[in-house]
Amino acid sequence: MARIRVGSVEILPLLDTPMLMNPHTFIPKHADEFMAQYPGEVVDPRGLFPISITCYLVRSAGRNILVDSGIGRRRRPGFPPGKLDDALRENGLSPDDIDLVVNTHLHLDHTGWNTVEGPDGSAELYFRNAGWLIQRVEWDYWMQPRFTGSGEYPHLEQCVGPLETAGRVDFAYSEQAIDENLVFVGSPGHTPGHVCIGIQSSGEKAIIIGDASHHPVQLDHPDWSPSADADPMLAARTRRLLFDEAEADSRTWLAGHWAFPGAGRIVPVGGRRVFRGL
Ligand SMILES: [Zn+2]
Repeated sequence: MARIRVGSVEILPLLDTPMLMNPHTFIPKHADEFMAQYPGEVVDPRGLFPISITCYLVRSAGRNILVDSGIGRRRRPGFPPGKLDDALRENGLSPDDIDLVVNTHLHLDHTGWNTVEGPDGSAELYFRNAGWLIQRVEWDYWMQPRFTGSGEYPHLEQCVGPLETAGRVDFAYSEQAIDENLVFVGSPGHTPGHVCIGIQSSGEKAIIIGDASHHPVQLDHPDWSPSADADPMLAARTRRLLFDEAEADSRTWLAGHWAFPGAGRIVPVGGRRVFRGL
């Protein structure tokens, strides 16, 4: 199984589910350019391109830290079912081994396994021994009644609210350290309180980028913001800064939504930034 070592920290990509995206719905403003510039290179004969919902298990300072919790077990329209439970098992892990869950933001595909449905239909914490660490700004934004009461975001009451009810969530503020190796990196745009997870140990670096980017074509076009970005201009600025930082130190690993395992490095080739996968 592919894994990344960053000094004393180990990152294990765990596939929740692969997905095929249509540029015309995912990135409608730039779909025509996408199809024209990358024919056959990144889209299949049906015109679809792959991404993945990947959770990253980070072993740092003696703890198992899960960065993002996928789409989850409940059936969700438009999403294949999540298989994080299988991925944990295949790696000799159980949900009880997770000490801390960090959600980069509170969208459905990053919070899904926070809870599962119990026999009586109630939400049960899936990681029974874990605490959660979530940005206060992100929490305050999504837990407003205009979202929780809208019926549009049932995952907020299923997968987010129960963390507070159970007294398991602590709130983080901006660029707060998570431990001696990990730090939140403010990266707003996709959502107001979106964060990446910066990892640094023994001079090695990685950034788990959450939804700051969804596809390597954004290395050529950081301004191609998908329709899911709440603030497309801010998201583009954030994306550009992250890529600049990763390129400045060519040993920096990036990990995110890109096709599983979604991790690699940025290398300059012929004036372009190219993604070299794990
Ligand atoms: Zn996402």
